[in-house]
Amino acid sequence: MLKGRTAIVTGSTSGIGLGIARALAAQGADIMLNGFGDSGEIEQIRTGLERDFGIRARHDGADLSRADQCTALVGNTLAALGRVDILVNNAGIQHVSPIEDFAPERWDAVIAVNLSSAFHTVRAALPDMKSRNWGRIINIASAHGLVASANKVAYVAAKHGIMGLTKVVGLECAETGITCNAICPGWVLTPLVQRQIDARAAAQGVSVADAGRDLLSEKQPSKRFTTPEQLGETAVFLCSEAAANMTGTSLSVDGGWTAQ
Ligand code: NAD
Repeated sequence: MLKGRTAIVTGSTSGIGLGIARALAAQGADIMLNGFGDSGEIEQIRTGLERDFGIRARHDGADLSRADQCTALVGNTLAALGRVDILVNNAGIQHVSPIEDFAPERWDAVIAVNLSSAFHTVRAALPDMKSRNWGRIINIASAHGLVASANKVAYVAAKHGIMGLTKVVGLECAETGITCNAICPGWVLTPLVQRQIDARAAAQGVSVADAGRDLLSEKQPSKRFTTPEQLGETAVFLCSEAAANMTGTSLSVDGGWTAQ
C-alpha cells in the first residue's frame, strides 16, 4: 500500500515509534529512523527493516529538543531518500513530579521534545508534501492530550498542545491531499512506562508485577496494555485511502481510559 512512499518516524529506536516504523515498512514505505540508543542495536534495527521488508531504511540521530536538528532531520531525509510523504511525530519524554518541585529545565525539555519538535518538523516537511499534493502527518499524542493526571504538568500541557497543533495543520491543509491527525494511546508497555512502574513499585514497596496491574486498573478499564503493533496498524490506517478525508482529529487507542 505504501510502496514508493517515504516515512520519517521520530523516536523510532524504541517502543511505539519502532512499532510504527515496522508497520509502515511492512506496507513498503522507506523509513528514516530517528532516536537515541546503542549504535550497534540501532544498526540491527535498520538492517532488520531492510531485510524483513525489502525497503530502504536510514537512521538520523537528530536531538529533537533542538529546533535546528528537527529541521535538519527533514533535510537529511530528502537528501538520503528523496521525499517525505509521511511524518510521524512520536519522540517523547516524561517527567513525573508535583509542580512545586518540577524543575524548570525538565519543563523546557518536555515541551521541546513532545511539542515544539512537531512544529519544526511539520514546518520543514510541508513544502515537499505540497509539491506532490499528498501527505500524512501523524502526531502521537496520548490520553493525556484529552484528560489530565496529577504530577505530569509538562507532559499533559505538551500533549494538549499537540492536539491543538494537529487541528491547525489539519485546517491549513484541508483543501490539499495532506492530512494531519493524532493518535491518543493509553498505557503501552514501553521503556517510558516501565520506568514509571518501577518507580511505583519502589515507592509503594510492592512487586513490579503488582505495580503494573495497579497502574493499569487505575486508568485503563480494559486492564490490558495497548501494543506498539496495534498503534502501528492504526498509523497504517491513517495512511490509507479510507482515511483521506479524516483530518484535524484524533483516534483513541486507550482501553476505555477517556470514556470514563
Ligand atoms: P520510549 O521511551 O520507548 O521511546 C521514546 C523514543 O524517543 C526513543 O526512540 C528515544 O530515543 C526517542 N527520544 C527521546 N528523546 C529524544 C530527543 N531529544 N530527540 C530524538 N529522539 C528522542 O517511549 P514510548 O512509550 O514509545 O513513547 C513514544 C511516544 O508515545 C511519546 O510521545 C509518548 O509520549 C507517547 N505515548 C506513550 C504512551 C505509553 O504508555 N508508553 C502512552 C501514550 C503516549
